[in-house]
Amino acid sequence: MKPFRYANPATIDTAVELLADDGAMAMAGGVDLVHEMKRGIRAPALVVSLSGIDGLSGIVERDGVVEIGALTPVERLLSDPVIATHTPLLTQAAREVATPQLRAMGTVAGNILQRPQCWYYRDPDSFCLRKGGTHCHAVAGDNRYHAILGGGPCHIVCPSDLAPALVALDATVTVQGAGAAERCLPIRELFVGPRTDPHSEHVLARGEIITRLIVPSSAGAQSLFMKARERAAWDFALASASVLVTRDANATVTRARIVLGGVAPNAWDASDAAASLVGSPLDAASIARAADLCVRGARPLRDNAYKVDLTRRLTARALETIATHDPIGH
Ligand SMILES: Cc1cc2nc3c(=O)[nH]c(=O)nc-3n(C[C@H](O)[C@H](O)[C@H](O)COP(=O)(O)OP(=O)(O)OC[C@H]3O[C@@H](n4cnc5c(N)ncnc54)[C@H](O)[C@@H]3O)c2cc1C
Repeated sequence: MKPFRYANPATIDTAVELLADDGAMAMAGGVDLVHEMKRGIRAPALVVSLSGIDGLSGIVERDGVVEIGALTPVERLLSDPVIATHTPLLTQAAREVATPQLRAMGTVAGNILQRPQCWYYRDPDSFCLRKGGTHCHAVAGDNRYHAILGGGPCHIVCPSDLAPALVALDATVTVQGAGAAERCLPIRELFVGPRTDPHSEHVLARGEIITRLIVPSSAGAQSLFMKARERAAWDFALASASVLVTRDANATVTRARIVLGGVAPNAWDASDAAASLVGSPLDAASIARAADLCVRGARPLRDNAYKVDLTRRLTARALETIATHDPIGH
């Protein structure tokens, strides 16, 4: 690991001032950043820990809107009664993240901003497109875990389980930078695809940090997070589906959201698939149609065509499971 300076500011203002310097990087739990530093993938001159700042961690609910501090440990989402009542999709997604130890260290903002797991990106000896090289090594290389949707020129996938769930829940993030007023942006606008920027997965400017996530309550909707992985535990998603469905008293779908993880460079909002469910009961035909639409336009690489069927089946299974429950009062 290259030598670096370390700061542990007590306020957001000091943190963002320090982070405005070229070569400074924010650290939350450090699970991902320290790993990258050890591998020599990133070498900040200054690491600014956010862990000493009061008020960046915690969960509160006001008028049906849940506020989650950026530094809240992922593990906390599993046991928090506000999350269980208002955004149970997040409880389910958090349960699938890594291990209890990693969830205790890792934070919500750190989870959604973690860098890709692509083995060419993580290989210190590989100078791939994401690290400033000329091309994506996955195209001609071993691409069994790479993107089937929205890929190119880089073919990473979103490794976070929380990001797709938060997109499905229409969360907003609050962002603070040096000398600027706090700004809010919908989480779907936080992420950026490789066609727009092959080097970063988000639009945060230098020195900006996420301070909070604001999540509207999904009480009244039925939700389910499902994840397929190669190993039974402690593994990233080959594909995940975050599904939210609202049905009326006649069991007709009035609103739906389907967001996929592990298959595209960012959380993939399968909005056409979700829209196709609205106005019909959740039956075999509507589920099959939505599952097909989820992977419409998929362009698998040489080794990952299996993800197309996996994603289709995972989405169908999530919708089928929801359909078996009482539409009101899940
Ligand atoms: C073995 C293993 C298995 C894993 N399995 C899974 C899994 O199954 N599912 C899953 O979702 N994740 C998984 N992870 C990832 C893990 O959950 C993340 O690494 C962790 O959540 C990162 O959180 P952190 O707080 O430690 O982030 P850090 O490592 O501190 O930061 C990560 C990145 O986010 C930036 N950052 C952090 N907080 C802020 C902020 N508030 N504002 C601006 N920038 C910020 C940092 O600069 C850095 O670039 C796994 C990790 C390991 C090591």
